Amino acid sequence: MSAGLYDVAIIGCGPAGLQAAIHVCGKKAKVVVFGKPERSGLYKAHVANYCCFEKVVSGKELLQAGRVQAENLGAVFIPLDVIETRIENDQFHLVIENNESFSSRTLVLTMGITRKKLKVKGEKEFVGRGVSYCVDCDAAFYKGKDVVIVGNESAAVTGALTLSRFANEVYLVCRELEVSNALYEQLQSSSVKIIKDAWVKEIVGNSEVEEVVLTNGKTLAGNGIFIELGAKGAMELAANLGVAFDTDTFSFIETNKSQETNIPGLYAAGDITGKPWQIAKAVGEGCVAGLNAAQYAKRLSKS
Ligand SMILES: Cc1cc2nc3c(=O)[nH]c(=O)nc-3n(C[C@H](O)[C@H](O)[C@H](O)COP(=O)(O)OP(=O)(O)OC[C@H]3O[C@@H](n4cnc5c(N)ncnc54)[C@H](O)[C@@H]3O)c2cc1C
Repeated sequence: MSAGLYDVAIIGCGPAGLQAAIHVCGKKAKVVVFGKPERSGLYKAHVANYCCFEKVVSGKELLQAGRVQAENLGAVFIPLDVIETRIENDQFHLVIENNESFSSRTLVLTMGITRKKLKVKGEKEFVGRGVSYCVDCDAAFYKGKDVVIVGNESAAVTGALTLSRFANEVYLVCRELEVSNALYEQLQSSSVKIIKDAWVKEIVGNSEVEEVVLTNGKTLAGNGIFIELGAKGAMELAANLGVAFDTDTFSFIETNKSQETNIPGLYAAGDITGKPWQIAKAVGEGCVAGLNAAQYAKRLSKS
């Protein structure tokens, strides 16, 4: 580990951060990456839709391979969280969990998103074994099976409609749907079974999910449950720097096609910039952010 001034600092070591680091190294710039791999959205995933991998590949293995690749190219990894960010004298200053400080000419934010949790018994235990937060990622795994999806908003309804193209039975559990009439009509003319005025109380199974217990006392047999409660960005650090968020939801960092934010020298990539929450998007944006951050830092170091 080494402090001092880095050309590029990256907060987050998921696919966006790893790809950014790899491209920064390609530009022969000095880069440090912060974060805990096990907190990446990818860590517990089994990936079937990422280009060049014909068979399902473990997210954990992808993350390990990306880290080794970046380290071999010269990236420095610090497996701790950043707890403070500020800009001073045109440099970014970061404080990490153990109170060490780091400085950099540019900063790339790739902190991902925190998916809203149901916070019920069985949820944590069955993530990746029947509990999913991403219909687009996992719907195909439930071909011909019975699934439950829970949520009140458009994400849950569109998710249920997508699932109905794969699954045998889809149960949408909601308290009260808050969606447009058009979407509601689409839902009603679909095969999705709507269970209103109920919520999920418990997720039960052995090695995988087997049933979902509801607050109305009923139990739904199902092989999977999709939790679609929207998403909350890990935004506090970004907000401290004065970063602009998207004007629709104020949940995601706004960037241009060069992955630049409204702050000079500050870039963002991956889930933190909005949907689709997919590896392919994260690495694409990470590549662009890494290249541009390295170039910007090189220009600063010469001026
Ligand atoms: C169960 C599951 C299955 C999925 N399946 C697929 C799939 O099949 N195909 C697909 O394309 N996508 C899938 N995804 C989505 C995919 O994992 C994400 O789109 C991708 O990981 C986003 O990459 P990212 O780098 O933007 O964020 P993440 O991978 O979430 O990484 C964010 C990183 O930032 C770090 N971080 C956060 N805050 C701080 C801080 N303060 N200091 C330091 N570090 C911090 C975290 O520790 C983490 O390492 C799945 C996701 C889940 C949860």
